[in-house]
Amino acid sequence: MDASRLLLDASGEILILVDTRTMTIREANHTAVRLLGYTREALLGMHVIDIECALSDLFFWDEVLGQQGSGETEGAYRCADGSILRVLKVALPVGEGKNLYVVRSNPVEQRKRLEDEILEMSSRLSATLEATGDGILLIDSENAILNMNFRFSQMWALPKILLDSRDDGGIFDYLAGQIKPGQSGILISALHNLDADDNSFDTLQLHDGRVFELRSLPVRTGQRIIGRVHYYRDVTEQKKVEEKLRIAAFAFESQEGMLVTDAKMQILQANRAFSQITGYTGAEILGKTPNILSSGRHDAQFYQHMWTAINSDGAWEGEIWNKRKSGEIYPELLTITAIKNQDGVVSNYVATFRDITKSKAAEEEIKYLGLYDALTGLPNRRLLADRLQQALAASSRSGHEGALLFIDLDNFKTLNDTLGHDIGDILLQQVAQRLSSCVREGDSVARMGGDEFVVMLEELSHDPLDAAAQTEAVGHKILNTLSQPYQLSKYQYHSTPSIGATLFNDKHDAIDELFKQADIAMYQAKQAGRNALRFFDPKMQEVINNRAVLEGELHRALDNQQFQLYYQIQVDSMLCPVGAEALIRWIHPERGLVSPAQFIPLSEETGHILAIGQWVLETACAQLKAWESSPLTNTLTLSLNVSAKQFLQRNFVEQVHDTIERFEINPKLLKLEPTESLLMDDIEGVIITMNSLKEIGVQFALDDFGTGYSSLQYLKRLPLDQLKIDQSFVFNLATDSSDLAIVRTIIAMAHSLNLGVIAEGVETEQQRQLLLDIGCTHFQGYLFSKPVPVGQFEELLKL
Ligand code: C2E
Ligand code: MG
Ligand code: MG
Repeated sequence: MDASRLLLDASGEILILVDTRTMTIREANHTAVRLLGYTREALLGMHVIDIECALSDLFFWDEVLGQQGSGETEGAYRCADGSILRVLKVALPVGEGKNLYVVRSNPVEQRKRLEDEILEMSSRLSATLEATGDGILLIDSENAILNMNFRFSQMWALPKILLDSRDDGGIFDYLAGQIKPGQSGILISALHNLDADDNSFDTLQLHDGRVFELRSLPVRTGQRIIGRVHYYRDVTEQKKVEEKLRIAAFAFESQEGMLVTDAKMQILQANRAFSQITGYTGAEILGKTPNILSSGRHDAQFYQHMWTAINSDGAWEGEIWNKRKSGEIYPELLTITAIKNQDGVVSNYVATFRDITKSKAAEEEIKYLGLYDALTGLPNRRLLADRLQQALAASSRSGHEGALLFIDLDNFKTLNDTLGHDIGDILLQQVAQRLSSCVREGDSVARMGGDEFVVMLEELSHDPLDAAAQTEAVGHKILNTLSQPYQLSKYQYHSTPSIGATLFNDKHDAIDELFKQADIAMYQAKQAGRNALRFFDPKMQEVINNRAVLEGELHRALDNQQFQLYYQIQVDSMLCPVGAEALIRWIHPERGLVSPAQFIPLSEETGHILAIGQWVLETACAQLKAWESSPLTNTLTLSLNVSAKQFLQRNFVEQVHDTIERFEINPKLLKLEPTESLLMDDIEGVIITMNSLKEIGVQFALDDFGTGYSSLQYLKRLPLDQLKIDQSFVFNLATDSSDLAIVRTIIAMAHSLNLGVIAEGVETEQQRQLLLDIGCTHFQGYLFSKPVPVGQFEELLKL
């Protein structure tokens, strides 16, 4: 195939080579073959008249050949199938011989058909698309407006004058004028990017606030783009809705947990915060009811109130305890709102809630800070005042005294000024700890602020003087404990407190008044040279002072031989003397005779009782030895009081045994009088000790019987000889029927246990007679004699 043939075939036009000498076809290209419908072979050698069928064709050849040049005409070919193909043709001479012409033909039909197609399409479009809500504009490839629908002109409010004039340029200018500045480029590119074929759209903002979406699509015929369709859609409302939805979605994904249920309480939707708070994912709780969050902390009534509020007011808000997936129970602030449809029927419930664990904790913290001191963790003044109020009421009821001790650290300011507040704070914390270790469980330690602390003691003795002594004991413990060296960071520090104390026992006592009293006493302690304890009540102070003096003097009393034994006679039912009780007296050089009630408890506290007890035992044994020589006295028993501390000494049995041996006395005449309170502690140990002493031959009377809590069970196991009815029952025997009943019971019990029984504190004949009547056989009391020195006692026996 030669090159000229290739070129001919590549052309989209009909090309035919005509030999004008014979007017036959010498060559035809592909397009000719395709459009005319003949084979190439059939065409070659064919006379042009065989395919040219228009009159104009004849004139054309005349013209071309006559002028010996080129020519142009609109002619027609008869195709192989008999159809007519109208063409616009040009003939040009080829080569130099001038008898070869190339005829180039373009079918006129093609363009015409296209125009018809477009018209038809646009009319179809306008028919169908008038119905749509979009504004539609159809333009051809030159941006000439082919069509527009009514909606388009309506949307843009196209002026009638433009519509009527069909001034394309004017219309596009008008459109550009309606949209906000900076957006006209969108319009321009929509018009000029003829072959842009994506499905995207642009958004046009109009001056009047409306928003249009513009979609521009090409119109094609085969491969060719012959125009574009512009779709304009008014999305103003849609955008508004979208905005609302966006806001709603944002709100839904807020920090608050949210839950939407249907009317049957089935969960439809939950937000992220819900999952974060509860631990349940959205998928897990979908279709469930909010019951799965129930903590079980609220009763049915609570939920009933809640639902009543929702049903009547449409909403409920409150704090509620719910349960996380982990099982942890937490507080939340919950709002439940009922959503009703147009008919007023509840369609949904919306619950929003906030986890208030932290704010609750903060609330607790605030409450705590309101009542406790942040530095030491001790109760503060407010809480102490509260407790004091309760303590006053309690002491009023029980009759027990209570005490307030104000404790102020000496020279604390100096420490703060020299070593700094941080070190001062450490001291305060350590003081707080030490104070707490000084008191019993029911007592309170509080910090009033600064270096002031308060200790409140409760359930002290009924007796104010004893209570003062107890308070003093605690006060001294505090003085001692707080005076121990402190390690404050790298500093060794020595501090002392000053303590002021006051007692209380009446609910009518004013709290402020008590605080003031303790405070005044504390200043007195400071004035006394610090590191001291002072009582507000001068009488108390005197008692305490006395005790302090006594304690010092007690120390020397034994050495100085200031003790003496007095003897009180004991008689039987016939008033015959059967024995005596030895009662110790302290013959003080200045005070005179000091009663054991004053110094025995003190000596028990200080431990002096052991030495004193030994002295009593020796003195008593010496006396028994002396009495052996006289028939008046050689059968008398001698009773000795033994304190629990003494009795519980490890070598007590040995001591008694040794002393008896040493004085060579009859052990049967020695009677030990432990009190019932001894049996409160180590009962088994006491039984063993008593049995050992019993083996030696010593007798036992249980003193102050009836004031303690002896069970019959234990009494049976003790090797006792006698019960001693406490004098408190004897005093009111004539007037108090319940005392009489108790005494009667004690006597009956003694008999049943085969024990002797003696009544002490018998002051009147009436008491003696009553006791005798109910079976008491032995007596002791002022009726017979007061406790007297041994000389007077022996005189008594002679009467
Ligand atoms: P206690 O052993 O119960 O002694 C009886 C107390 O009642 C004695 O008081 C005695 O003087 C007193 N008394 C006796 N008859 C009557 C009476 O008819 N009416 C009244 N109102 N009182 C009467 P005292 O001598 O002051 O002793 C008090 C307590 O001191 C004793 O109570 C005893 O527990 C203790 N005590 C005395 N001497 C010693 C001792 O040597 N060692 C020990 N450990 N305690 C002793
Ligand atoms: Mg006694
Ligand atoms: Mg007694």
